[in-house]
Formats: sequence, C-alpha cells, structure tokens
Amino acid sequence: MRIDVLSIFPSYFDGLTLSLLGKAQSAGILDLRVRDLRDWTSDRHRTVDDTPYGGGAGMVMKPEPWGLALDELASAPSAEGRPPTIIFPSPAGEVFTQATARDLSTRDHLVFGCGRYEGIDERVFEYAATLGEVRLISLGDYVLNGGEVATMAMIEAIGRLIPGVVGNPESLVEESHEDGLLEYPSYTKPSVWRERPVPEVLLSGNHAVIASWRRDQQIERTRRRRRDLLPDDED
Ligand code: SAM
Repeated sequence: MRIDVLSIFPSYFDGLTLSLLGKAQSAGILDLRVRDLRDWTSDRHRTVDDTPYGGGAGMVMKPEPWGLALDELASAPSAEGRPPTIIFPSPAGEVFTQATARDLSTRDHLVFGCGRYEGIDERVFEYAATLGEVRLISLGDYVLNGGEVATMAMIEAIGRLIPGVVGNPESLVEESHEDGLLEYPSYTKPSVWRERPVPEVLLSGNHAVIASWRRDQQIERTRRRRRDLLPDDED
C-alpha cells in the first residue's frame, strides 16, 4: 500500500519509522511518503493560511497549496487502476473505528491531508472528490490542534491490518473490537506475582474450558466498560 501524508509538520511522523510499521516500510509492504504542504507555496513566507471570509476567530488553510499538492500526489490511479482514497482528519467527520481501519486497509493508495488552525477551506474537499474518494474522519469527540496525531493513529491502526505487517495474523483476530467485544484479560509468567495468582483455569491446559472462560470475560468486561457495544439482548 502507498500512503502519502500532507502536513506542515512532517517531523511528527518520524515515529512511524519505528517498530512494525518501520519494518513494513523496509520490507516494501508499506510505501509511506510524508510531504511538507509548504513545498506547494510560492511566496517568500511559504504561507498556508489566511483570515476567514465572514469574519471569526483564527485562520483557515488556503486552498491553493492543497490543490497543487493533491494534483501532484492524488491525481493518478494506482497500478491496479483504482483512484486514491483521500482522508482529511476532522472532528466534524465520521468516527474512526476498527471497521473503518479494516475497510481502508484494503485500498491501494491513501492520501492524508492534515489540517491546522481552524481547518481547511471547504472547497478543497470538493476538489479532492474529483480525484478520488474523500473521507472526513474523526478520531473521537474532542478537538486536537492538528490532523497529525489523528493521522498517525489511523496509519498505525490501518497499517497493522495490511497482510505481512503483523507477523502472526492470528493475533489480529482475537483483539478488542474485531468481534464487537473487548479482549479478554491476558497474563504471563510468573503464575503468582505479589500474591496475585493467575486465574486457575488458564493453567488447566483444557483449551475448550479456557476458550469458554475467555468468552465470558469478554462479555463481562464489555458489559462493565462499554455497554454501548453490546446488542440489546446481552444487556
Ligand atoms: N475548527 C475545527 C472544528 O471545529 O471542526 C477544528 C479545527 S482543529 C483546531 C485543526 C485540525 O485538527 C483539523 O482541521 C483536523 O485536521 C484536526 N483535528 C482536530 N480534532 C480532530 C479529531 N477529533 N479527529 C481528527 N482530526 C482532528
């Protein structure tokens, strides 16, 4: 998969060279390119923002650098002939979930546009829709200073679902949100730590009993912490 990121703070993304996503890039599974939006400005101050029409507080990101950047990075279809998916992180967008991550992990080419200030001139989203599928996606119901942290979170969640990125694909199947429930509790050695024993059932070696206990734990934990995830009849 190819991922292009447009940001006025490209160094935010240095962390994505580490760990599994770093290895995925070295292995050629993930082609991640982070670009400075200011490279598409032409004035001496490399200006990317201006005052809002209609008045109001703060500044708005100008459309011109975005248009030129998208023309360069998002106008060509992928090798498979599919247009890019262009994602603008936004607190006013659809909420990002594991299902969104799964869906986006099947795309050939993602382009992330990180907003700053009061956000991006609305016409940029309309123009982007002429080049590919546009998604405005929120990390949650709170406001960040910019789209960088949201983009990093999304790239990590999407990237680990690309085949070959996580060594053992089995470990992806049993995780929180994959089957609509939170994950069961995990333990490792020693079997007793600071007078706290590991639940006896996990030492039994009986796989059927362990699976049933884990399922019960998932339901119980989800009921306690995230009742909203359970269907009505499991309330
Ligand atoms: N004025 C905007 C509003 O009220 O919807 C908020 C702008 S925010 C200060 C600047 C940028 O941060 C946004 O353009 C977006 O890229 C990013 N951002 C802020 N909160 C976010 C969230 N919850 N999810 C995703 N991106 C977010």
